[in-house]
Amino acid sequence: MRTPLIAGNWKMNGSVALINEFGQAFSAGVSPMNVEVVIIPPFPYLDAARHAFEGTALSLGAQSLNPIHSGAHTGEVSGRMLKEFAVSYVLVGHSERRQLYKESDEQVFARLLAALSVELKPIFCVGESLEERDAGRTMDVVLRQVGYVMSRLEPDQRKQVVIAYEPVWAIGTGRTATPEQAQDVMAGIRAYQAGFDKGLAEQLRLLYGGSMNASNAAELLAQPDIDGGLVGGASLKIDDFFAICQSA
Ligand code: 13P
Repeated sequence: MRTPLIAGNWKMNGSVALINEFGQAFSAGVSPMNVEVVIIPPFPYLDAARHAFEGTALSLGAQSLNPIHSGAHTGEVSGRMLKEFAVSYVLVGHSERRQLYKESDEQVFARLLAALSVELKPIFCVGESLEERDAGRTMDVVLRQVGYVMSRLEPDQRKQVVIAYEPVWAIGTGRTATPEQAQDVMAGIRAYQAGFDKGLAEQLRLLYGGSMNASNAAELLAQPDIDGGLVGGASLKIDDFFAICQSA
């Protein structure tokens, strides 16, 4: 049985005040049951979040990390530093990082390895562009991204990875993939993983991301291969995010 995971990626949004509001809203007793909930705020809010989320059901994720532990890399943050702030998860390969900051598969892999080396759980993001979907290349693109990383990992490392399927055309557009479209791709990813190890494929947690909101979450999360969500815009509104967690 896979525990559902709902992660809120705040991107470059939010405030310390919002962190505190989330801490209060998700305090023990009012939290959704049987679902793991992770908030992924910008770096400067991690310290406030670690205090505000103490004793709540919320755990903490970070949006990126550098492949190395320390050195002359102005503006970068390492996994080792994140560990000092009670961070459990870290995003790697988000399409905004791939597109805006030109992160290649190779760099994504290096970041993912760096995460594993300090026992941070990577939420590894993959997804096709609209052009690629229209050309019928969705599965090729997604499995190439998944394969580049997963084929280079040891079985023990593979176990730690959560994969998020985020079609690029659905991110921030209000255009969600249909439950069937998302399920098809997720089933393909799980089948690929089963090629390495059937047991591991059954345990692999797969998240859907792309305009998930309080109205469409239940239908998406009801799909057999969708184990949770990576939520952008709707994770900044407490009521919407809480409702999404309740539908998991
Ligand atoms: P939206 O939910 O705003 O579409 O963002 C999805 C996303 O990119 C989460 O990582």
